[in-house]
Amino acid sequence: MIRDLTPSQPLPRSLSPLPDEILPGYLMRLAHRAGTTVDEIAHRTGLRGPRVRNPMLLSYLHTLDETRLQALAEATRLTPAEARSLLLGPLAARYGPLDPHYTRRATPMRVINNNPWVWTTTWRYCPQCLAGDPDDAIQQLHGGAWRRHWRLPPVFSCLTHRRLLRHLCPGCHTLVATAEMIDRTDEDDLHPTQCRRRGCGTQLADPQGHAEPGLDASTRRVLDRLQRRFARLLSPSAPPTVRSTGWPIPAAQYFMDLRTVTALTLLSWPAARPLCATPLLAQVLDAEAAWRHREYERLLHGAKKHSSQAFLRPAVDALAGAAAWDVADRLLRLNEAQSHEALTPLTETAASRATALASYLRHLPGSSLPLQLALTPRAPRGPGRRWQANALDERDRWRTQTAAGPVAIA
Ligand SMILES: [Zn+2]
Ligand SMILES: [Zn+2]
Repeated sequence: MIRDLTPSQPLPRSLSPLPDEILPGYLMRLAHRAGTTVDEIAHRTGLRGPRVRNPMLLSYLHTLDETRLQALAEATRLTPAEARSLLLGPLAARYGPLDPHYTRRATPMRVINNNPWVWTTTWRYCPQCLAGDPDDAIQQLHGGAWRRHWRLPPVFSCLTHRRLLRHLCPGCHTLVATAEMIDRTDEDDLHPTQCRRRGCGTQLADPQGHAEPGLDASTRRVLDRLQRRFARLLSPSAPPTVRSTGWPIPAAQYFMDLRTVTALTLLSWPAARPLCATPLLAQVLDAEAAWRHREYERLLHGAKKHSSQAFLRPAVDALAGAAAWDVADRLLRLNEAQSHEALTPLTETAASRATALASYLRHLPGSSLPLQLALTPRAPRGPGRRWQANALDERDRWRTQTAAGPVAIA
């Protein structure tokens, strides 16, 4: 182990980050290359103190203050921009759930903590990507990248290897997850792509990518198309706006709308069942919605509140998540009149089952105004009328502002 250097001195050997690599994955590869522990690397890069048990904060996944960013860059011989590219914060420009503006969470800590639309301690993965490039000696030694985009629930498949992301370890058959940013940081003999659950240690990387669940050809086509669409929305080079219920909104906010309509779809299931693209996706959603309703009842009658989370949490299973998002995406891609008509049976069924929750979902913080209007009856009563009048005015002002803007993704 390297004990005698202060945190700001460069490491004797560093590593170039891989494309889309996330900070904890990079730290594990650095530790493996140096033959030391993640704790040692975290201390040397200024991410944790030297003595007391002081784990790296989960908020570091999102943002590092300038002092820490500088220390990390200096120790690893990266530029500050390269160091920043290991974080989730820069993805907020295209992914609303990471953006304090849409989440009403003031700090990176609050954006990350208890935010179900970011996998902070869940490590979904493509086993073939983790195996690394066969022509790259460094990757063959230390593994491929744990990718930043795998932490975004709407990234459910690998388009390179045409497979769904895994969430279970094939050895211990439990969720690949950590209690902290990285677990077992005091051990120096773990490979970066091993399961870190105690007593397991299964190698998660698999160059052959065995055991992909059987998907029929039409389901695979639907999911590929959906994943390509989400990838385009998340791309920094794509147009800044996209249509939601017929209206241009910021691409980042589209994922807030997707979250709302997914929750509504599950709460009102099977109202949206005719929109399922294939029989398999409909069956998957039958099971998922049934589970969500049981979970809702459990939370409703339990000591813990937040029963709405039974519908608002994204599915960790890639197929179940994608099945719900495909329906929600189909609804959001309709024009204003069509979406209002298609969403009405969902809002009515939801209101008949859980009035307060349906009303909460209609005006969920972060949802676009066009979606909130599409979820509102055409002639609301009481205070809803004033809200609707103001919302229509605001939507018209937004239309005027964006009329001369760039062409949106349809
Ligand atoms: Zn892959
Ligand atoms: Zn395991």
